[in-house]
Amino acid sequence: MLRIGIVGLGGRMGHALWDCCQGMDGVKVVCGIDRNAETLPAGCTAETVADPELLKEIPDLFVDFSRPEASLKVLKFAVAHKLPVVLGTTGFSAAQKDEIRQASKAIPVVFAANFSVGVNVLLNLIAKTAAVLQDADLEIVEAHHRYKVDAPSGTALAMGEAAASARHVALKDVMVAGRNGDTGARQYGTIGFSSVRGGDIVGDHTAMFCCDGERLELKHIATSRQTFASGALRAARWVADKKPALYSLNDVLGLK
Ligand code: NAD
Repeated sequence: MLRIGIVGLGGRMGHALWDCCQGMDGVKVVCGIDRNAETLPAGCTAETVADPELLKEIPDLFVDFSRPEASLKVLKFAVAHKLPVVLGTTGFSAAQKDEIRQASKAIPVVFAANFSVGVNVLLNLIAKTAAVLQDADLEIVEAHHRYKVDAPSGTALAMGEAAASARHVALKDVMVAGRNGDTGARQYGTIGFSSVRGGDIVGDHTAMFCCDGERLELKHIATSRQTFASGALRAARWVADKKPALYSLNDVLGLK
């Protein structure tokens, strides 16, 4: 039996993970970490605390969909107790990503901005397309629900990274996010990002490769958070007996 601790149990993804675990063989949610005890899933009996240091029962691993500050606290705790972590939270700064890399020297960490298998396929297609259509202007458009707090989305950034690395450039050198005002003409080689926020959109991502005379669009639409939850739980089962390292969903799916 894999005993899981869910970080962000009271949130949208926490609920999706809880639902996914109910009735799943070989998996049990034994605890939650959340600063808000008011929004736990209905019928949830797992011990839930605001800080991992307060846990009475330590899980076999953590699945984290919360906020960067909560994730980093849990990572520190996981390193001290040698527990694997599946990390789905987005919005980390470059310095915070370094902390994740550092922790993964001591414990196995699966880190993915998007745990949907379809998005993983999309990332691979974007890398191939960006390499073939070297001169195409790439624009990435993402849309999410009104409560999302970071932009561009972690998935949009992962799409940009996939294209940039296929073109042998650093994303930070070519990224243009949120144009406004007197922008001037588009610069060759840049990758543009636009973010839409509204309603209950689960997550739409489009990569537009714009050439003269034609345009190729690669699009993914998530219609339910269950797709992220089941991908994260697949990663949890996979990582439970792995050596310390930083893993991606490609590793989990055996695509690399
Ligand atoms: P949410 O706001 O609904 O839930 C976050 C939960 O974390 C809340 O219950 C909140 O109380 C808790 N929390 C926040 N800060 C905390 C802290 N310091 N200590 C303890 N608890 C804290 O958000 P959500 O929609 O569930 O998304 C959570 C994260 O997962 C976001 O970063 C989102 O972008 C990301 N996400 C990733 C994927 C993926 O596939 N990787 C998919 C969906 C969402």
